Amino acid sequence: MYELTTLLEATLGNLARKQKSIVRLFPTFPDRVKNVGLRGGVRLDSWDDDTWKFKVHSGTETALWYDVVFQFLNVEELLDELVANTRLWNKGRTKINLNKLGRAFLNKVDVKIDCSCPAQLYWGGAYIVSLPKYDAKHGEPETRSPRVRNPKKYGAHCKHLQAVMKVLPFHVNQIAKWIKQYHMDIIDAAEMTVRKEMTLKKERQADARQARKDARRAEKQGLQKAEVEEPTVEEE
Ligand SMILES: [Zn+2]
Repeated sequence: MYELTTLLEATLGNLARKQKSIVRLFPTFPDRVKNVGLRGGVRLDSWDDDTWKFKVHSGTETALWYDVVFQFLNVEELLDELVANTRLWNKGRTKINLNKLGRAFLNKVDVKIDCSCPAQLYWGGAYIVSLPKYDAKHGEPETRSPRVRNPKKYGAHCKHLQAVMKVLPFHVNQIAKWIKQYHMDIIDAAEMTVRKEMTLKKERQADARQARKDARRAEKQGLQKAEVEEPTVEEE
């Protein structure tokens, strides 16, 4: 059941791979995304425990901003799973490194996205990300296929969403801040579990070391005893 759900949801990586074909629809797409950046770019507007809202400037009009939404799914389960990986902890393994955690989180999290611009609807992005294999449309799924404008269903999303995806990996400190604001209870609990496991492991290792030591000592004593007894046997 879990496997099936995983397959039907999209990570940022899944969407980025699908998005690559957008240049077949719009050969100048990368330049259009640049224009979004030049005109005003991306601003993080608000967030709550699972949704980030951005204002993204139009690439063609002046003083026109669109609403871009990123919703992160299964946040708590994923954070819990990631904290268990001690490679994401600090060097001394005393606690999680929130920046490393943020980066891993972005790579693995399932997302739902949307943009309020007309292109996301009319060129098929909304329809494509609504397909069951992505199920990544924030809000109501779009069922109207872009039969005329994008019959081959290239790409996955508009330039405003692309502009946000481009900057997201550079906002690792924002992700850390967001985790601190909303999810520290999960982090604390997961860290506690890992610390307990580390303590148990250390104890088991210490026990094993002691057992080996004892075995060596016993063996040595046995040998010494044999050394003392053997010559008398040989002389006979
Ligand atoms: Zn858009």
